[in-house]
Amino acid sequence: MEQGPWPEWPGRRIEKALAVPDRLESVFMSKNGAVIDVLAIGAHPDDAEIHAGGTLLRMAALGYQTGILDMTRGESSTRGTPEERALEAAQAARVLGLLHRETLDLGDGRLVDTLDARTALVAAFRRLRPRIILTHHWEEPHPDHVATAQIVRAAAYLAGLAAWSPTEGVERYRPHAILHFGLPRWVPPSLVVDVSDWAERKEQAIRCHASQLHAPGGGGLQTSVSAVSFLNHVDARHRSYGTLIQETHAEAFFVREALVVNDPVQLFPRPMGLFQ
Ligand SMILES: [Zn+2]
Repeated sequence: MEQGPWPEWPGRRIEKALAVPDRLESVFMSKNGAVIDVLAIGAHPDDAEIHAGGTLLRMAALGYQTGILDMTRGESSTRGTPEERALEAAQAARVLGLLHRETLDLGDGRLVDTLDARTALVAAFRRLRPRIILTHHWEEPHPDHVATAQIVRAAAYLAGLAAWSPTEGVERYRPHAILHFGLPRWVPPSLVVDVSDWAERKEQAIRCHASQLHAPGGGGLQTSVSAVSFLNHVDARHRSYGTLIQETHAEAFFVREALVVNDPVQLFPRPMGLFQ
């Protein structure tokens, strides 16, 4: 079912979102010269949807250019082939109205902070020129998530060094900020984004990754993601963050750097919440 804000999307964005044909290369092909306002970077093809799908939808609804970069194809997953996962990622890209999605194919389960990985990501940053990056927190159980956070932070720095030029002729570039998601319980959010109006569509995007989720009567080895309760847990986590701002759903992010505030009055648009 469509939600309130969806029909109000700018026409150009709907065209872009719907114009993506089913051929994979059209989604995973880089678009030279594209500038992405908000780029979510996940280790595996469903991570960005799970942790930041609502924020990507909200930003797209506000008219920003959004995209996802997957560090790996998810080929080491217990369930689903890389080909199935690529199709699912393409479907989710359409649900989220992304301008761009690509995979760096750096090795699921083998992702480490190497010079090659940094170089690949620096090239992507200089090509896509993302203003804001959303990515994993560095304290997570999955080693690929940890490595993603490390590679992203290193590459974001190196991409700004003019003399660090593994990609000839491409201008240096440094993102404005890195917002980390998937926060461990001992990390308080630096900010939360109200995604209440996009919770249902976010779940649609996650459900695109059907090979990973519970299938009634389905066989195969089970994982934490294929548990019946998985989507409820994702929902509960974001409802919990929603209570912090007296909304139904929110996504939480941690920013390591100090936040620059030009207008403290505008920063606080509503009365204080009851829960801390
Ligand atoms: Zn993952």
